Amino acid sequence: MSDPAATILVVEDEDKIAEVLRDYLRQQGYVTHRIARGDEVESWVRGNPVDLILLDVMLPGRSGLELCRELRTFSDAAIIMLTARVEEIDRLLGLELGADDYICKPFSPREVVARVATVLRRTMRARSAAPKAGGLVLDEAGWRATLDGQPLDLTAVEFKLLSVLAGQPGRIFSRDQLMDAMYRDERIVADRTVDSHIKKLRRKLADVVPGEEFIHSVYSVGYHYEDRR
Ligand code: CA
Repeated sequence: MSDPAATILVVEDEDKIAEVLRDYLRQQGYVTHRIARGDEVESWVRGNPVDLILLDVMLPGRSGLELCRELRTFSDAAIIMLTARVEEIDRLLGLELGADDYICKPFSPREVVARVATVLRRTMRARSAAPKAGGLVLDEAGWRATLDGQPLDLTAVEFKLLSVLAGQPGRIFSRDQLMDAMYRDERIVADRTVDSHIKKLRRKLADVVPGEEFIHSVYSVGYHYEDRR
């Protein structure tokens, strides 16, 4: 049933809840890691591969809401928010945090395990399908990108922009979100506006595959990436 290779991060400050969740998830073959404080999550996610994050809303150090928004700017891990009241879910949905699912407390661990499996199936399928569809391959470690097998000669900033956009096809990123994602990578020094980098990136993509548009702009909002149809 479950994907035995998946790693799940449990962000929950209440020890008892965290332990029960981890027990159930481990029984399903998942690898789990637990963090109890909101302000320790970001650096951990940056340094460790993770497939899904169970994220409590009320946390010491930093709120789950803020974290969810931030994680979305650089991580493609699935996120399931845990919230204390069912009425709160409507409000959370309205905030457009980008979470994949919401679970209300108190929950049965079985329900959580079932929702985790569903979300993982969905997100892992989407992820493995994404690079093939557009013929775009990003080698994050080597900062190399190819499109239909042809190398794209990208600057570090352009590579980062493309990896953020293509990491979540269809999702609209604001210029601020893109800027944040770039500057948080300490290897990058960007001194121009997002728009001029996007322009160059588009030109380089068009050099390899003319007549196809991969990066789309949404007037006054930002940009999104679409795989080739
Ligand atoms: Ca809590």
